[in-house]
Amino acid sequence: MENVPAERSLRKVPAAYDSKIEGNVIFTRLDAAMNWMRKNSLWPMPMGLACCAIELMAAASARFDIARFGAEVMRFSPRQSDVMIVAGTVTYKMALAVKRIYEQMPEPKWVIAMGACASTGGMYRSYAVLQGIDQLLPVDVYVSGCPPRPEALLEGLIKLQEKISGEHSLREQRPQLMEKIESFA
Ligand code: SF4
Repeated sequence: MENVPAERSLRKVPAAYDSKIEGNVIFTRLDAAMNWMRKNSLWPMPMGLACCAIELMAAASARFDIARFGAEVMRFSPRQSDVMIVAGTVTYKMALAVKRIYEQMPEPKWVIAMGACASTGGMYRSYAVLQGIDQLLPVDVYVSGCPPRPEALLEGLIKLQEKISGEHSLREQRPQLMEKIESFA
């Protein structure tokens, strides 16, 4: 440890200023840092159910390169995913399987409804089709189109990243835990 003269150690030296480490220190909130890490490393659960899934695959290809937004690690295991991209027509037969897979994803987690079918049932006003996955899951971002182009999905992803940046990670996602912590304070 550096020997600091006694008279200098009594002076108040502002942190990250007038010091050897100036320029290498960032001050932030814990929530902001966690949200920044989360939004730039989203692992999608590609819930491809119909034609929109082709555009989802295209978004991951070299031409559109979803890796530019840190979301290239598609996982077919819900335990390792944090954003479900519902791409395609959700039939009633499939709907409960989609919900079960969503429930297996760990918190925090998000949902993108990709395309008209996943958002509203699309052109299928039919007894066999769920009229929007938001009837079962909390959707964060809707992407319009039949099918949406890969760029539209990427824009949806950017919107989700903006939403995640503003989240209060603990208070909003674990309100009961926060209440417990505050009751000890
Ligand atoms: S929105 Fe269009 S392209 Fe997408 S699943 Fe429905 S019918 Fe197919």
